[in-house]
Amino acid sequence: MIRAKGIAAMSAKSELAPFSFERRNPKEHDVVIDIKYCGICHSDIHQVKSEWGASIYPMVPGHEIAGIVRDVGSKVSKYKVGDPVGVGCFVDSCRTCSSCKQDLDQYCLEGHTGTYNAYERDGKTPTYGGYSDVIVVDENYVLRIPNGVPLDKAAPLLCAGVTLYSPLTHWKAGPGKKVAIMGLGGLGHMGVKIARALGADVTVLSHSNKKREDALKMGAHHFVSTDNKEVFKKYAGNFDLIINTVSAEINMGDYFGLLKLDGTLVVVGVPDRPLSIHPFPLIMMRRSYAGSVIGSIKETQEMLDFCAKHNITPEIEVISPNQVNVAYERVLKSDVRYRFVIDMTKI
Ligand code: NAP
Ligand code: ZN
Ligand code: ZN
Repeated sequence: MIRAKGIAAMSAKSELAPFSFERRNPKEHDVVIDIKYCGICHSDIHQVKSEWGASIYPMVPGHEIAGIVRDVGSKVSKYKVGDPVGVGCFVDSCRTCSSCKQDLDQYCLEGHTGTYNAYERDGKTPTYGGYSDVIVVDENYVLRIPNGVPLDKAAPLLCAGVTLYSPLTHWKAGPGKKVAIMGLGGLGHMGVKIARALGADVTVLSHSNKKREDALKMGAHHFVSTDNKEVFKKYAGNFDLIINTVSAEINMGDYFGLLKLDGTLVVVGVPDRPLSIHPFPLIMMRRSYAGSVIGSIKETQEMLDFCAKHNITPEIEVISPNQVNVAYERVLKSDVRYRFVIDMTKI
């Protein structure tokens, strides 16, 4: 076995603390990765606190992983020692269902294998994530980080990047389309940069005025602070596509009126409580309410290459592993500009 060092939560109420554990020796198709950086996604916090149902402990969170290949199994053909690589939100899937066969493995009908807070396909071996120094992953679930993209800035693309790239491309954000991003956090700020690069007209809907300058610098064409409820009248019927990245419970009723006839609001944020809606704003203008989860392995690679081509990188603050608990508090207060990334070489 391979010795690994990381930080883990032992229960929903405990802080993250140093934790030693073991990774499997590489099987034929496995890649052993020295983790250099791991982003902090709000989903890590929801799961550490067991907000989405019973979590598995000890939990080593982290699914925005960037590192360098240390070793490869005997039949690995895609990667070699020294390659810069990434791992995102899942490390396996059934590989045989209709979703997996269509390169939509994030929607595996048997459920994809989460990078952490999950069990391997054997149903009993827990998975441990990227707040650690090494990980072993099947080559088919490893991503290539394009040349020239620094590893610390690559990490958040593996979840935040693809979670916005997937719905933006699926619902065809591009020239002539008005797109709004709700919430300028880790996901939201990647949404602004990607939607802009796709050629859409981009608006940020933020719950205060504090991030206005940042949003415009990131490429948003417009910034709307939703603390003034008048804006819901001013922008009524304005957008083709709205993507909701907000991590908290908000009044969704306000937002559907902002869509045009046939417009779509896609939710990617996952608060701990249900979001209720009244059908009227949907039925009156044939609007759609949709959801989207991360992206496929194929799409994640496409997104990495797209970001490299368009020079898109996240705004990050690099921290040490011993600062993670403080960082969580700051994320909860919307006080992160715009993604924390842990330097895992300091573990
Ligand atoms: P984040 O960095 O904390 O950003 C969330 C943003 O929501 C904040 O920056 C803030 O933006 C807004 N917000 C927070 N509290 C609010 C409140 N009380 N009222 C209104 N707005 C509020 O989180 P993240 O990492 O981007 O993740 C966002 C959500 O997406 C989380 O729930 C996460 O679990 C989920 N997620 C889903 C997927 C998926 O595949 N669907 C993937 C990753 C994450 P403003 O200050 O601009 O309003
Ligand atoms: Zn995530
Ligand atoms: Zn499947």
